Amino acid sequence: MKEKTKDIIIAFDGHSSCGKSTVAKAVAKELNYTFIDSGAMYRAITYLALEQKLINGKKIDIANLKTALNSVQIKFIKNKRTEKQETWLNGKNIEREIRGIKVSDSVSYISELDFVREKLVALQQEMGVNKKIVMDGRDIGTVVFPDAELKFFMTASADVRAQRRYKELTEKGEKVTFEEIKQNIEKRDYIDQNRDISPLKKADDAILLDNSNLTREEQLDWVMEKILSYRF
Ligand code: C5P
Repeated sequence: MKEKTKDIIIAFDGHSSCGKSTVAKAVAKELNYTFIDSGAMYRAITYLALEQKLINGKKIDIANLKTALNSVQIKFIKNKRTEKQETWLNGKNIEREIRGIKVSDSVSYISELDFVREKLVALQQEMGVNKKIVMDGRDIGTVVFPDAELKFFMTASADVRAQRRYKELTEKGEKVTFEEIKQNIEKRDYIDQNRDISPLKKADDAILLDNSNLTREEQLDWVMEKILSYRF
């Protein structure tokens, strides 16, 4: 008889655009776990701030953003046609908008704010009360779920990440240049690693995965091997 497997929390942290979501999503599918893209939540708040004109460059209207956050509702809903999970904010599907360069350019300024992090971390912790969750982000293994049973820290060179992101965005029809994407990735890395609250860093007990030279399949095999040996 098959041994009973443990229900666990799996954290994927790492640099921008290194394919965390892709691997985390695939792992969740294999295990029949819930996948949560915590970056989409920071992107959703950034979209809200841009929509309501509460952010202009680095300048943020803190008072009004705090008020807007009181009634914010973020949901992940599966698109029946594509089977892909999409982000909804206050009843509106914003999946496409939050992936664009406009949101990417401002998101690190919004995610530096203590009250934004407090709100989103609390929501993320609620999502993990019953375990069976795979969450990707920057502070999942360090702050959101410091006791997560398995933690991965993913990275790849800035060039490789920019190339992948450039391909993804141009395939969607977005007009961007490779240089613009690379600069955005480097800027986000810098702000994410140097902010005062919950900076991006590898948890001591996280397993490092540099995927610069690995295909998606190779990464998934590598990660699943670690997970299966832990769970049984
Ligand atoms: O993962 P993604 O690149 O979509 O995240 C967008 C931004 O959200 C990151 O650059 C970072 O500033 C912020 N973020 C964060 N903490 C997380 C997830 C994302 O600060 N857990």
